[in-house]
Amino acid sequence: MTFWALEPAMKKIKVGISACLLGQAVRFNGSHKNSPFCSQVLAEWFEFVPICPEVEIGMGIPREPIRLVNEKGQIRVKNVTDHSRDYTDQLRALADQKAPELTDLCGYIFMQKSPSCGVFRVKVYNENGMPETNPAMGAFAHQLQQHRPLLPMEEAGRLNDIRLRENFIIRVFANHDWQQNVAADPQPKNLVAFHTRYKFLLQAHSEVHYRQLGQLVAEAGVRPMDEVMAEYFGLFTACLTHVAKINNHVNVLLHMLGFLKSKLPSEVKMSIIKLIERYKEQKIHLIVPITMLKHYVEIYQIEYLLNQKYLSPYPYELGLRNSL
Ligand code: SF4
Repeated sequence: MTFWALEPAMKKIKVGISACLLGQAVRFNGSHKNSPFCSQVLAEWFEFVPICPEVEIGMGIPREPIRLVNEKGQIRVKNVTDHSRDYTDQLRALADQKAPELTDLCGYIFMQKSPSCGVFRVKVYNENGMPETNPAMGAFAHQLQQHRPLLPMEEAGRLNDIRLRENFIIRVFANHDWQQNVAADPQPKNLVAFHTRYKFLLQAHSEVHYRQLGQLVAEAGVRPMDEVMAEYFGLFTACLTHVAKINNHVNVLLHMLGFLKSKLPSEVKMSIIKLIERYKEQKIHLIVPITMLKHYVEIYQIEYLLNQKYLSPYPYELGLRNSL
């Protein structure tokens, strides 16, 4: 078995996206916000489902700009100059209508700063047009999140941060794995197999969550399966949302090396330990010790590690650990 054998030619994963990020000229001024990382790189692996909420509710192109307004404690989406034109309910209704059609999405990439699509820190104004201190979420994105609270959501701008980028891509692939292999056939043995192959990845993200998840898995044959599944996936998602820290990676790498201890000549073992230390000092990227470990895991066919998602959480061609 090889790591490549674990990545069969699979169907592309369905991911929602703000249509302007794919180069569609749907913005208020008729422009787009093409993201080459999305439209060229991720499009190889993701089947994007583009949605422009403002166009879909009939606002037209071009259209007058809108923004979030705090109206007596309620965040509303309003025309910048004419506050009587309020689009909040239409944008929320669109999300309500779309949600049942989008149950097979494994992630969503939104355009930042948008009063419809923004996820983090969208500017809010008071009724006199002055900016407020507390940001909010775009109306469409927020309403969709009510329907799919565990769906990995990210903004295109934040994907420029290599750690956030890797974290989001990991969550999308894990979400897909869960949908395909556990949610589609919810049996204790599938949950156990899923938990087993994510062991080291979970530990890299949060040891505390990993232990809690282990306790939940132990209850799989005892408590109602739907209850355990719902709790497990909520906690699993929370765990992966933590960005993996360098020290956690180091602990995981050393732990994995332990599985090879009796097989490797001591000089090879020492050279891998040195690579892990250099990674800890941030002199080399994570991909270096991982590649070395993978090499020996394949040579010695260490079955338990061959199945570990930590070593191959997404197709290696994405090269995301080359700069971590
Ligand atoms: S940010 Fe959202 S609403 Fe605005 S143009 Fe892009 S897809 Fe349309």
